[in-house]
Amino acid sequence: MAADTRLPSASSHDDGLEARLASVRQSIADAARAAGRSADELTLIVVTKYHPASLVRDLAALGVTDVGENRHQEAQAKAAELSDLDLTWHFIGQLQSKKARQVRRYAHVVQSLDRDSVVDAFAPTEAEPEPLVVDGFVQVNLTDDPGRGGVQPDAVEAMVERVLGTGTIRLRGVMAVAPLDEEPRRAFARLREVSARVAAIAPDATDISAGMSNDHAEAIAEGATHLRIGTAITGKRPTAP
Ligand SMILES: *Cc1c(COP(=O)(O)O)cnc(C)c1O
Repeated sequence: MAADTRLPSASSHDDGLEARLASVRQSIADAARAAGRSADELTLIVVTKYHPASLVRDLAALGVTDVGENRHQEAQAKAAELSDLDLTWHFIGQLQSKKARQVRRYAHVVQSLDRDSVVDAFAPTEAEPEPLVVDGFVQVNLTDDPGRGGVQPDAVEAMVERVLGTGTIRLRGVMAVAPLDEEPRRAFARLREVSARVAAIAPDATDISAGMSNDHAEAIAEGATHLRIGTAITGKRPTAP
């Protein structure tokens, strides 16, 4: 597939968008069939980070219901601009505890719970005894590099207990990014094992958010329920604004 090097602009409609979305949906359906699964079990989250709000609007017009963003200020501005649309916003980036309470105002799902301080920021306080409830995923680090974000697999149970303890996060499951230097399917198989351990202590938390543009078929083969796909649908991302 040729890379799309055009910069998206707020005004020009990208004619390739619909075709790329259709092609990814087809690829998801094919991978589901190959894995003996129903595509109805899979939620496609289109990752729109760095792209203008107009692209998100175009995606919504094409039937996209779920979008993913990884930077708080950008996500907050887009969600405000698009508040007339019925979208589910997923926050998928590294979160600072000071920002966590603000993210909750527009994000329906926080997929990057990976530190005690971030999880604790969602808990009730004296000033706010009944805070908003969000859906959450514990992010799992599938590499040995602590800088990559996510909880090490052997620390996931403790993090799950902490999330459940807040009373304000509905735990949905686990989220991960495949390592760069490993066959993605092997890494996603480990995530699936972690997911089974989580479900043993939190029976409703069976979702698995895994799979991006280049590895969604492998993720589907290993039980992913939520796919976070950016460039294969949006085209090349502009550089960070
Ligand atoms: C950017 C991003 C994606 C999407 O990546 P693509 O390769 O563009 O599909 C998925 N998940 C996370 C956490 C991301 O930051």
